[in-house]
Amino acid sequence: MKLSKFSIGIGDRFGRQGKHLLAAVIDAAKAGVEITPVWNKSHREHTIIGTTPADTRAEADEVARLQGWSGHYFVDADHINLKTIDSFIESCDFFTLDVADFINQPALTNELDAFVAGCEKYANGVTIPGGIDELIGEQDAIRAIGDKFLTAVKQAGNLYRHIAAKKGVGNFVIELSMDETDTPQSPLELLFILAAAAREELPIQTIAPKFSGRFNKGVDYEGDADKFERDFERLLAVVEFAKEEFGLPKGLKLSIHSGSDKFSIYEPINRALKKFDAGLHVKTAGTTWLEELAGLAISQGEGLRIAKHIYTEAFSRIDELAKPYETVVNIDRRKLPLPEVVAEWNGKRYADELRHDDSCGRYNPHFRQLLHVGYKVAAEMGKEFIDAVADCECIIGPNVTENIFIRHIKPIFID
Ligand SMILES: [Zn+2]
Repeated sequence: MKLSKFSIGIGDRFGRQGKHLLAAVIDAAKAGVEITPVWNKSHREHTIIGTTPADTRAEADEVARLQGWSGHYFVDADHINLKTIDSFIESCDFFTLDVADFINQPALTNELDAFVAGCEKYANGVTIPGGIDELIGEQDAIRAIGDKFLTAVKQAGNLYRHIAAKKGVGNFVIELSMDETDTPQSPLELLFILAAAAREELPIQTIAPKFSGRFNKGVDYEGDADKFERDFERLLAVVEFAKEEFGLPKGLKLSIHSGSDKFSIYEPINRALKKFDAGLHVKTAGTTWLEELAGLAISQGEGLRIAKHIYTEAFSRIDELAKPYETVVNIDRRKLPLPEVVAEWNGKRYADELRHDDSCGRYNPHFRQLLHVGYKVAAEMGKEFIDAVADCECIIGPNVTENIFIRHIKPIFID
């Protein structure tokens, strides 16, 4: 099973916007760009919402059938590890192997020696085509990288073989994920991580490194966009080189997690993809739920009451709600409006503060991030929330499609 050159992770926390999400990929196809949709939902999200991977599979299949989608699509077991993998195996055909916790766990000496010996040919430097300077991987550097990443790659191998034993080799896509960690990986590190993956015979189709800068959920990139562009180009060059050099799958490409709303780096990404004729996987997900919330607010009446209730609860439970997202949210509590202030707002004001569009001058990224992680409150409301979303479908649906197509797919893959 193979991904197309471009693919997008779409997620639908409450399982109500599937057809509007798929519509965005259909719009891309009409514009002449093939993008494979991948439905992603992590163990963390399933637990908080109270759904199972079988629900995501059912939604993906149903929506593809209803929309007459004849292309490929996948269901992603997002960020799985050995503890959480089993409940995903049957329903998923894309597995994001999260081994970030194993980075920096020292490698076994014999394995490290074998790795360094196997990489000897690169010890005097590697020339990577594509405008990147020569990478110098002296033996000591290779050993240090091996010591830092080999255990993690071995762990990915364990996960891969565990899945392959049940699903059969070649029947699923795998992504290697090292993004939920503190320090970005350098091009040289990525090169030898890929060398290790090849030695482990991991047929990875995507790899999610930790990029420079901050990728907070649902808000713009924080960091130096020019530096990001240089780093991203170097990582792309390494991937293009490594897939040939190490015999990894031909379609191997980078994957960007927490890709929603990183508007300031979409243009650099688009430029770099063209420059290297490279593919990319971008994961988005959580902002679909924010479109549901904005739609509820705009509908006034009952929808607005629910939207305000969710904020009031989220405000008082911020520690609990933000905890699972520690490394990917950055909320300044002093910039959060008090619930009693929000209680006075009309629906438009609520949506203006929530929406990532500062043309109205009211967008508040702190308000947005708190609500982003506040979906647990909506999940607890159960039917009351779901029914309200269903009542507002004619407002929400087009916004969900527009959010993914106009604000994400177009600038990244098409423009
Ligand atoms: Zn991720």
